Amino acid sequence: MSNDFELRAHPAPVPAGEREALMANPGFGRVFTDHMVTIRYADGKGWYDAHVEPRAPIPMDPATAVLHYAQEIFEGLKAYRTVDGGVALFRPDANAARFRQSAQRMAMAQLPDELFLGSLHELVRVDRDWVPSTEDGSLYLRPFMYATEVFLGVKPSAEYLYVAIASPVGSYFRSGVKPLAVWVSTEYSRAAPGGTGAAKCGGNYAGSLLPQAKAVEQGCDQVVFLDAERREYVDELGGMNVFFGYGDRLVTPPLSGTILPGVTRDSVMTLAREAGLTVEERPYSFAEWRADAESGALREAFACGTAAVLTPIGTVKWAGGEFTIAGGGPGELTNRLRTELVDIQRGRISDRHGWVHRVL
Ligand SMILES: *Cc1c(COP(=O)(O)O)cnc(C)c1O
Repeated sequence: MSNDFELRAHPAPVPAGEREALMANPGFGRVFTDHMVTIRYADGKGWYDAHVEPRAPIPMDPATAVLHYAQEIFEGLKAYRTVDGGVALFRPDANAARFRQSAQRMAMAQLPDELFLGSLHELVRVDRDWVPSTEDGSLYLRPFMYATEVFLGVKPSAEYLYVAIASPVGSYFRSGVKPLAVWVSTEYSRAAPGGTGAAKCGGNYAGSLLPQAKAVEQGCDQVVFLDAERREYVDELGGMNVFFGYGDRLVTPPLSGTILPGVTRDSVMTLAREAGLTVEERPYSFAEWRADAESGALREAFACGTAAVLTPIGTVKWAGGEFTIAGGGPGELTNRLRTELVDIQRGRISDRHGWVHRVL
């Protein structure tokens, strides 16, 4: 198909006054813009019917495949208001590529990058008034795709619907950048070797909700998963990658197939190496974490992802006890890398890597 999206403008968009009120304190993922993008796919026909249309419920047959076998993937990225009043996306080409890789793992049709990127440009343009101008605010974009074939047989669907929606957001954690308390689960795994851990699919999240709820019961903000085989090495959090800081050295678990290859993770590694730090991608055990936190060798740890940027980890709890990292405050590298990343995203410092894609 051509890359033309047919625009059906919303007949009654949210009035400006109401929109401003909603955007004053949007929280995360509860306020949505006026429009959405949809593109359909069918075997033999390919991609068709690309629309920018009013955001609305999507009627669904009860036998729609996704409701039964969870063939669904998604992405998450942000449109940022830049210092000159424009709007930019951060490394959307990396999200497009990851979306294709997730589709490949879930035996789904792969959306061409031009359509993925085109859909986001169209959506941000039509809903430009929803991009917050506040310091911490941004327009969170959620592209996703699911199996729409009406069939209960177990096989890859012959039809898919791609949708992109947008949500103005403030800071992900209600507490801002206050250090996290994390719960290390020795009972549950997120992803096993050969499984779907490297795909951004809803199913991975479904399986993480119970361990996440247990983390909250323990007074923690997030769950940390260990490797499924030995429950010895740190994988990642439910939805964020993790780094350990040793002054002039950062350690992060390798992309072994059980963790999600985060765009933030990759960006942090690049910036850290350019700043002269050593970055080690290697298995990092919970025992090492604990010992180094207790000896003081570990200066900081942080979680990272698009939604939460870089967030320090202050306290670590598990079934056997708890420890704090360097007194529980935010670390120096965490702050430095976070500031540099945000400054690039906002256009406050130069974009040496071609990461920033202007939309407006
Ligand atoms: C999306 C996601 C991340 C972070 O990826 P970013 O591209 O940095 O936003 C980390 N872990 C999981 C499980 C994720 O789904």
